[in-house]
Amino acid sequence: MSGVRYDTIVVGAGPAGSSAARALSTAGQKVLLLDIVAFPRGKPCGGLMAVRAGRLFELDGKAAIARQFESTLVRIGPHAVDTVREPVMLVERREFDHALLARAEQAGAEFRVISGVASVADAGGVVLTTRDGEVLRAASLIGCDGSSSAVARSIGVVRRGARPYAVVADVPLDHCPPALVDRPPFFDFLAVDGGYGWTFAKATHLSIGTYGVQPVRALKIALQAFADAEGVPLPATFAAAAIETRPVAVPAGVRSVLLAGDAAGLGDHFTGGGLHSALLSGRLAARAVLEAEGGDAVTLYGALLRPLHDVLARQRAVARLVHRVVPTPRTFADLVLEASAEQPPEPTS
Ligand SMILES: Cc1cc2nc3c(=O)[nH]c(=O)nc-3n(C[C@H](O)[C@H](O)[C@H](O)COP(=O)(O)OP(=O)(O)OC[C@H]3O[C@@H](n4cnc5c(N)ncnc54)[C@H](O)[C@@H]3O)c2cc1C
Repeated sequence: MSGVRYDTIVVGAGPAGSSAARALSTAGQKVLLLDIVAFPRGKPCGGLMAVRAGRLFELDGKAAIARQFESTLVRIGPHAVDTVREPVMLVERREFDHALLARAEQAGAEFRVISGVASVADAGGVVLTTRDGEVLRAASLIGCDGSSSAVARSIGVVRRGARPYAVVADVPLDHCPPALVDRPPFFDFLAVDGGYGWTFAKATHLSIGTYGVQPVRALKIALQAFADAEGVPLPATFAAAAIETRPVAVPAGVRSVLLAGDAAGLGDHFTGGGLHSALLSGRLAARAVLEAEGGDAVTLYGALLRPLHDVLARQRAVARLVHRVVPTPRTFADLVLEASAEQPPEPTS
């Protein structure tokens, strides 16, 4: 049992956790940053983020940024590809998250690997018990432990509705058609019913994937068809993971436990992007803890998050609109079925 009492424990050292830990440590807090794995570690992700968003977190010019493009390409019809002129950067999560963690440690955060979270109790301060029975104490706790957040479960958060998944594979660039090597990040809204397929050309490999509110099995089938159409040879195995886009409310009575990033359901339902929200919400959670000075950080954080929730709600509306006007792969499949139904039947005798 650890006798040290921290100002804040941050659970999960992804972008949300490292962002929160860095801000708190910079402000002079004694911060314990926990994860269940040692870093560097990989994470299934396309790694695309607007350069504009990266600048807010002083990320430009850092080695963890694999590539930058001035625009993205979006297929919204069989012969319609639009250009979105917003500069974007592509990161490798292994290096990116490691660099963010290093920045949090440089600011003074203590990083430790734990066996997992068994429970979190909020009672005049926070008590976290790890899976192997260690007891850790702090005035506040920020749960940044991703889309299957144990912290959220521990404090009784309930999520409703279906959440999206993404399936991704990395293919060496020298195995890909030459036209894809320097093609800007490409989103194909025809590749998945109610979602999209993507190709992001990074420094050494192509990230190719599919996203949507669909079972992983269906997304894998869609990925194979998308890769075939793009001429990309897929490896035998892909990575798949949920993206938590269902915003949650922390249950009444919880005053010192906050959730950020995917743990808080702050992924963008339209694109599945969650890096910007994770970095931003981590920083806002830290601000709420600092400004609440031991008082009700949860309520203050809720107010600070409102503009982000508004943007995410608008993105949901955009998603509904886009998927109403974009033809779906099912439309094509139906056409093929209809066409084959018109063929003369086989003679029976
Ligand atoms: C296939 C795929 C592609 C994606 N592509 C993009 C993209 O191109 N652009 C974009 O913006 N977003 C993308 N996303 C979403 C993005 O990856 C997430 O929104 C982002 O990682 C959220 O950051 P986070 O810090 O909240 O959580 P995470 O990055 O998931 O970090 C959570 C951390 O918590 C740790 N952890 C988990 N459980 C515990 C526990 N019990 N105790 C302690 N630690 C724990 C994990 O090990 C991990 O290090 C993609 C997601 C997927 C699945």
